[in-house]
Amino acid sequence: EAKRAGGARQQIFETAMRERAARRAGIEAELRQAILEEQLFVVYQPVVGLKPDGGTDRAAGVEALVRWRHPVRGIVPPIDFITVAEECGLIGAVGDFVLERSCRDFMDWRARLGAGAPRLIAVNLSRAQLGQPGWIDTVRRILLDTGMPAEALQLEVTESLAAQDQDIQARLHELKALGIQLALDDFGTGYSSLSSLHLLPVDTVKIDRSFVSQSDTSAHHRVLIEATVKVAQSLGMRTVAEGIETESQLDVVRALRCAKGQGYLFSRPLPSGELLAWLASHEEALVA
Ligand code: C2E
Ligand code: MG
Ligand code: MG
Ligand code: MG
Repeated sequence: EAKRAGGARQQIFETAMRERAARRAGIEAELRQAILEEQLFVVYQPVVGLKPDGGTDRAAGVEALVRWRHPVRGIVPPIDFITVAEECGLIGAVGDFVLERSCRDFMDWRARLGAGAPRLIAVNLSRAQLGQPGWIDTVRRILLDTGMPAEALQLEVTESLAAQDQDIQARLHELKALGIQLALDDFGTGYSSLSSLHLLPVDTVKIDRSFVSQSDTSAHHRVLIEATVKVAQSLGMRTVAEGIETESQLDVVRALRCAKGQGYLFSRPLPSGELLAWLASHEEALVA
């Protein structure tokens, strides 16, 4: 009896696995097509400077975030295809597209807005990209082709990735040698901690949304943000609070001296044209 039940469970498990594999293969084939047919595009979320006096610097920077305009399913978020892209070897193509598009758009904003343009653009990296042989040459080529100044480019890596192995560390140092800035994304969610922050060659620490979203209701989360800011500062690193949604969260992270903030309170990620309009129209509104 028990054996039969076990067999049934096994079968359900195998069916689920097969379905999952089939779904993945479907997404993979569609993603290959998407890259060929240019269905991927990039949106940009403002990263604002938080002045201690209450003012806000709207042109501090932006973060580039990839989207997929699927012919049937509509706009697909990265969570639904980045992992698949990593697993089937397509992340290189996706990542190179995002980096090049981001640099081109950044230079376009500069040409149009001059001093009012964002001063920094942050682009997310995945492990598979960093591990690819010859990838540093691709980065160098994109910078040359687009005229993008390396100092205005920030590449975001996650804690688990940055802490990983010697190869990855060596790659990060190569990027730094090119003059590119590095940020540690989603800080606080990984396994490493404040005590190993000094081991990573990063300029900026991005405090994860899960801390920021509870910063106005939980003393515990406030203390963790405060400690992160202090340690980062003592190591010469800047901090960004991710996912600010309310004025009270903004008040808290500003009081705790986060240098920059990002979140729906300021703006959702926007297509390039809408970002230009946002930059033009929100200067006064944000300096409350
Ligand atoms: P991330 O790098 O931590 O990016 C921030 C995510 O939080 C974005 O989700 C953004 O839309 C969302 N967000 C920003 N402000 C708020 C807020 O106030 N409230 C809430 N609820 N969410 C907020 P998105 O665009 O869906 O991206 C999710 C993740 O996918 C990113 O997290 C990043 O890890 C990854 N990703 C996005 N674009 C790329 C890419 O081009 N390459 C790679 N490798 N990964 C990417
Ligand atoms: Mg990020
Ligand atoms: Mg993040
Ligand atoms: Mg992330």
